[in-house]
Amino acid sequence: MYDEIKRLKKEKDIVILSHYYVDGEVQKVSDYVGDSYYLAKIAREVNQKTILFSGVCFMAESAKILNPEKRVLIPDALATCPMAHMGSVENIQKMRKEIQDLAVVCYINSTAELKAHCDVCVTSSNGAKIVKNLPQKNIYFTPDAHLGRYIASLVSEKNFYFNDGYCPVHQDITRGDVENLKRQYPKALVLAHPECSLSVLKLADYVGSTSGIIDYASNSSIEEMIICTEIGVFYELERRNPHKKFHKVISNQICIDMKKITIEKVLESLKDEKIEVEVSEELRNQALIPLNLMMELA
Ligand code: SF4
Repeated sequence: MYDEIKRLKKEKDIVILSHYYVDGEVQKVSDYVGDSYYLAKIAREVNQKTILFSGVCFMAESAKILNPEKRVLIPDALATCPMAHMGSVENIQKMRKEIQDLAVVCYINSTAELKAHCDVCVTSSNGAKIVKNLPQKNIYFTPDAHLGRYIASLVSEKNFYFNDGYCPVHQDITRGDVENLKRQYPKALVLAHPECSLSVLKLADYVGSTSGIIDYASNSSIEEMIICTEIGVFYELERRNPHKKFHKVISNQICIDMKKITIEKVLESLKDEKIEVEVSEELRNQALIPLNLMMELA
């Protein structure tokens, strides 16, 4: 199967971009693997006219919005992110009416419709930097309350309002789970994604995006770590650090939507050149503004 995927990619001039949360075997056949910000940047830089996006729908949608002239394929259109749908346009409009001097900041993990109604998009790696540089005093952060609260803890000069969305995978990792593991492995460092709750982040030696976690773990002289994010990162962590020991916190540290992108579906997608991601021109033009501003400010 790997050889066939390689052959088809070359023959059809298709580039495969994958998120760190998809299965290791999908990461293995990919041309680029990274976090949301890196993938959004790479989607703009690659020469191929067709991008096969191994990730959830909002990521493929963002690639299409940033590259309307390119064809973007997703191996399973049902791979969606529950958190991306937890924000609402009605809430944004309500906040805009009620709060003066307000910037609506939208995590990139959101639908194109939500992006179209916000002022700027951010990722977990650039959120604090971008919010600090916004001229508005008040910030409405949507859809992820945990990332919003983490950014607020770094940007004390702004007033924050939060939508109450969350990532079910990171929300399920609790402070008690991490403390238990810490008792079992007292020498291990705790590395956490900011989609975890603040009570978990307070226990962390490092907080950052998936790329940040992988880089930190690889550069550290410590040999043992507790990883508070989706299990897909273990593929790259173990590939780069075969001698180090990584512990997951809970057994279901798994995003079932990311795992819908299987190697078999990637092959089908290459063969049949589907499923093509479509975003209407009007929506694309509106959603492009906050995405472009993110690229500029980051
Ligand atoms: S890990 Fe969480 S935020 Fe990421 S795609 Fe899955 S549900 Fe969405």
